[in-house]
Amino acid sequence: MSSTKAISLEFFPPRDIAAQEKLVRSAKQLLALHPAYVSVTFGAGGSTRTGTADTVRLLQNLGCDAAPHLSCIGATRAVLADILDSYREQGIRRIVALRGDLPSGMGGDQGELHYASELVAFIRQHSGDWFHIEVAGYPEMHPQAPGAAADLDHFVNKVRAGANSAITQYFFNADAYFDFVDRSRAKGVDIPIVPGIMPITNYAQLARFSNMCGAEIPRWIRLRLADFGDDKASIKAFGVEVISRLSQDLLDNGAPGLHFYTLNNAEVTMAIWRQLRLD
Ligand code: FAD
Repeated sequence: MSSTKAISLEFFPPRDIAAQEKLVRSAKQLLALHPAYVSVTFGAGGSTRTGTADTVRLLQNLGCDAAPHLSCIGATRAVLADILDSYREQGIRRIVALRGDLPSGMGGDQGELHYASELVAFIRQHSGDWFHIEVAGYPEMHPQAPGAAADLDHFVNKVRAGANSAITQYFFNADAYFDFVDRSRAKGVDIPIVPGIMPITNYAQLARFSNMCGAEIPRWIRLRLADFGDDKASIKAFGVEVISRLSQDLLDNGAPGLHFYTLNNAEVTMAIWRQLRLD
């Protein structure tokens, strides 16, 4: 399949030289597939503002369009304005705007903005239309939301505040995505909603992430993964098969693209990419 779908890739800032070397190796392999853009997380896992900016620069130097994630929790307007200005000077045109979780890369507890919708509005107020703004969507509901309907309204608020497109939390049940898109469209949301895709490589890590972010691992996937025990090769092969099938279903049924959470590993994302014949 020669693709008109926008495929993007997410990386996180490396913590040391060895991790940076690994990131560069992975990024070079993955950039050869010509993703639409790459993004770099902020704050998650203890990374810092400088770590995100440096990693964005590193990826820009490898020749790709790189988008920093920016979270507002714990930050003042002055700090956010400063970051936006420096990204603008760096030639960045796309930002993933988030609330974030505490503790955040901003460090402080003096946050002036409490939700991503306020951050989106602030970016528009401060930087006009300079940035293409991505926001997060939750097909299986954000874990802190009081209910699915309220969470959808909060998502709609982010779009009305000026978001250009959305990337979803990962999920393993395509129906949750299609339902979320349908409910968003019914509320007048017409921006692209790109599914976030989490490759499966490590059961313990996946279970930990999923507990935190509220992504359901279907029972049959849990049981299959449990059977594999420490057999990493079988877990990877099974993961590529399951995630390729999910991704194909999403693309065949209207998803405008895919956003891969690479976890700075090239191998599995490349294997899925090839299965999907995206290049
Ligand atoms: P919001 O949209 O603000 O929503 C957060 C919660 O508040 C939801 O439960 C929502 O329903 C509720 N809410 C929103 N508005 C209101 C309101 N007005 N009144 C009451 N409740 C409201 N985290 C990081 O730390 N760094 C990253 O780089 C990062 N990247 C991510 C990328 C993607 C694609 C995704 C899906 C998530 C990412 N996260 C990241 C995780 C994210 O920061 C967390 O999920 C966080 O808890 C919520 O962020 P948000 O932008 O979705 O928040």
